[in-house]
Amino acid sequence: MTTAIERLEKVQADIRAAETEFGRDDGSVNLIAVSKTFEADAIRPVLSAGQRIFGENRVQEAMGKWPGLRDEFDGIELHLIGPLQSNKAKEAVATFDVIHTVDRPKIARALKSEMDKQGRNLPCFVQVNTGEEPQKAGVAPKDVDAFVAECRDTFGLNIVGLMCIPPVEEAPGEYFALLEKIAKRNGLSRLSMGMSSDYPVAVGFGATHVRVGSAIFGARDYLA
Ligand SMILES: *Cc1c(COP(=O)(O)O)cnc(C)c1O
Repeated sequence: MTTAIERLEKVQADIRAAETEFGRDDGSVNLIAVSKTFEADAIRPVLSAGQRIFGENRVQEAMGKWPGLRDEFDGIELHLIGPLQSNKAKEAVATFDVIHTVDRPKIARALKSEMDKQGRNLPCFVQVNTGEEPQKAGVAPKDVDAFVAECRDTFGLNIVGLMCIPPVEEAPGEYFALLEKIAKRNGLSRLSMGMSSDYPVAVGFGATHVRVGSAIFGARDYLA
């Protein structure tokens, strides 16, 4: 049996190795430890080991466990990586530090309005449906340029990068390359891509944020 701390150390070592292998700067890839479905008791050891960037995919669930953990540990940075409904924008802005899933005008408007009310200016990623899968959230690749411009110019959101979840059954490389290409032509420097099964590959394609859950916390009890 390995512990979460041992698995965290392995993931960190893999990331450093991939940075070297692909000629990326040391420390240029941020590890987001995805703690969805895990209770505070399972997260605490990973915080004690020094990890500070975490990802959650549900606003309600994050509200239940992170305020307490923030009281115990300084410097936590919490990323929303799951779908957002506009009626949860208020809670999302109050709970999270970075939003990865901006994908429609209604959400962009709701987020900006809440940020203004709460005096926060959260960095945001636009989610891209790189595989153009009907069941998946995200902006179609051909619509990203216009949507990024709208987020910036119409809504005044601080768009810092792009995020994707490539099709599960396929090799992710071409989707990571597509995300990188779209980000570049929009002057966006951050790429949120790569999960437990493919984060070293994502580093090779320029990921600045990898979102790794089960490789650190173990298998989840239910699909989240
Ligand atoms: C759950 C989730 C992850 C982490 O998935 P693992 O395969 O457990 O690493 C990454 N990104 C998103 C958007 C997720 O919902």
